[in-house]
Amino acid sequence: MKIAVVGGGLAGLSAAVRLAGEGHEVSIFEKNSHLGGKMNVWKSEGYTFDMGPTIITMPAVLERLFTSVGRRMEDYLQMVSLDPQWRTFFADGSQFDLFSSLEGMTAEMNRFAPDQMANYLQFLSYAHRMYDISEKWFFWKPWGSLKDVLGAGSFGPQSLSLAAAIDPMTSMHQAIRKHFTDPRLAQLFEHFVQYVGSSPFLAPAILSLIPWVQIGQGCWYPIGGTGSIARALGKLCDELGVEVHTDTAVEKIEIRGGRAAGVVVEGGSFYDADVVIANSDIVRTFRDLLPSEESEQYLRKHSAQLEPACSGVVLYLGCSKRFPNLLHHDFFFSSNSDEEFRDLYERRIPHADPTIYLAIPSRTDPTVAPQGCEAVYALVHTPYISPEFDWKTGAQTYRDIIVDKMERCGMAGLKESIVTERMITPLDLESLYWVNKGAIYGVVTKRGLTSAFKTGNRSKTKGLYFAGGSVNPGAGVPMVLMSGQIAAQCVLEDMGTGDRIKNNMNQNARV
Ligand SMILES: Cc1cc2nc3c(=O)[nH]c(=O)nc-3n(C[C@H](O)[C@H](O)[C@H](O)COP(=O)(O)OP(=O)(O)OC[C@H]3O[C@@H](n4cnc5c(N)ncnc54)[C@H](O)[C@@H]3O)c2cc1C
Repeated sequence: MKIAVVGGGLAGLSAAVRLAGEGHEVSIFEKNSHLGGKMNVWKSEGYTFDMGPTIITMPAVLERLFTSVGRRMEDYLQMVSLDPQWRTFFADGSQFDLFSSLEGMTAEMNRFAPDQMANYLQFLSYAHRMYDISEKWFFWKPWGSLKDVLGAGSFGPQSLSLAAAIDPMTSMHQAIRKHFTDPRLAQLFEHFVQYVGSSPFLAPAILSLIPWVQIGQGCWYPIGGTGSIARALGKLCDELGVEVHTDTAVEKIEIRGGRAAGVVVEGGSFYDADVVIANSDIVRTFRDLLPSEESEQYLRKHSAQLEPACSGVVLYLGCSKRFPNLLHHDFFFSSNSDEEFRDLYERRIPHADPTIYLAIPSRTDPTVAPQGCEAVYALVHTPYISPEFDWKTGAQTYRDIIVDKMERCGMAGLKESIVTERMITPLDLESLYWVNKGAIYGVVTKRGLTSAFKTGNRSKTKGLYFAGGSVNPGAGVPMVLMSGQIAAQCVLEDMGTGDRIKNNMNQNARV
C-alpha cells in the first residue's frame, strides 16, 4: 500500500514508522526543513536549545514504537530520570521541590507543609485511579465521542459505572482544591493542566492523571536534548525506507470517488496514495487541505470541540554564567493563579505577573552549553491569537516583563549574561508549524459531552486518517506518539491486517 503522511511531527513520524515496519510504502511531506515539528532545535554561539517540548513523560509509549519495529529504544536514546523533577518558587518567597520518590517527597513536605502529606497521598491515589480508567477506556483507541466509548463496552451497568468513576461533574480545579488546603500546593498541582493548555476551571477532573503520570512514571530527559527523540525517529524512518520530502508543503488532500487518493504539494505535483494520514492541525486540515461545504459544516458543528488550546511566548537565552540555585526544571509562579487562568482562558490577554516555566538542561547535560554557561529556556503560556492582544506591537514589552521577573526571582545578573537570544510568540508558532491561532497543545480539553472528546483518528472519508495533538487522544509528546500509532492501527485494521496489531496493542496496554 502507498501511504502519504502530511506533516513530519512526532505523530506523523510514529505513524510512518509503524506502517513502514509493516512493509508499506510510506512518504512523509513536511513543509519545514526539519522533522519533528514542534520538537524543534535552535543552535547559536555554542548553545543548543530545544524549542518545544522539554518535559518527557510516559517514555513507554515511545519504547513501544521502537519495539513494534524490532528495535530497542536504548540503542537510539539515552534517557535519564530527573528527581527532584521541578523546583518551584511561590510569590510569598517560599520554595518547594517536587520529588518522585516517596522518601524525597516526605522530607520535602515535612519541611514545607507537614499537614499536607496525607492530602498528597490521597490525591496521588485519586490521580492514579484516573490514570487507570484512562488506560483501560481511552488510551490506544481511536475514539471520537463518548458514544464510541460506551458502545464499545455495550451500553449497560459497566458504562454507567465508568461514567460515574470519571467524576464527570468535577473540574480539575475542584479536584485539586478538594485535596489540598495549602494554596501553594493547590497552585502547583493545578498547573499540570497546562500540559494540555487548558483552563483548570473548565477541564475535567480526569486530567488529574497528568501529575500521576509524571510523579508515578518519571520525568525524563534524553541526553543531547529532547530533539534527540525526533532525530531517532528520523533515523528509524530512514532505516525502514520511508521517503521523506522536507521543504514540501501539502496544498490539498485529493479525494476521488469518495476516498483519499493522494496529496497535491506546493508547485502542483500530485503524489498518489491509497491512504493519507494528516498530522497537520485538524482545523487547518479541514479548512485549507480539504476545502468543501462538508468541511465548513464540520468546523461549524464542532466549533466548541475545536477551540484552540493556549499559546505561549518562549525565550531562548544563552547565558555566560551559571544559576546553581536552579534545577533542570523550575517554575516561578504567579501571585494569583485564579486571575492568571482567567486572563488566559476568559479575558484572552497575557497575564501581567505570569507563571514562568524554565528548562535549564545544562544543569543535567553539559553538551548543550559551553563550559560555565547555561542554556535557559523560559516559557510563559498566553492566550491563543485573538483580537484582544496584538503580538506585533506587544511582544517586546512582554519579553521585558518576563526577564525582569526572572531576575527578581533569583536569577540575578541574568540580563548582562545573555550572549545570544531568540524569542517566539504565538504569531511565530502559527507560522512555524501552521497551527490554528498559534495553539501549542492542539485543542482545549473541557468538561461536557460536546467538548470532552477530540476528533477521532479515522475520518468518515475512506482512506483518510488523523494523527496529532489536535485529535485523539490529545497533545503532549506521549499522547501524539500514541496518536500516530493509533492512526496506523486503524489503517491496518481497515485493510484487514489489524487483528494481530490489535492484540499486540492490548498486550502492551499497560505502559
Ligand atoms: C513551546 C512548547 C513547549 C512544549 N512543551 C512540552 C513538554 O514539555 N512536554 C510535552 O509532552 N509536550 C510539550 N509541548 C507539546 C508538544 O510539543 C506537541 O504536543 C507535539 O510535539 C505535537 O506533535 P504533532 O505531531 O501533533 O504536531 P507538530 O509538531 O505541530 O507537527 C505537525 C507538522 O506538520 C507540518 N505541517 C502542517 N501542515 C502542513 C502541510 N500542509 N504540509 C506539510 N507539512 C505540514 C508542520 O510543519 C509540523 O512539522 C510543547 C510545545 C511547544 C510549542
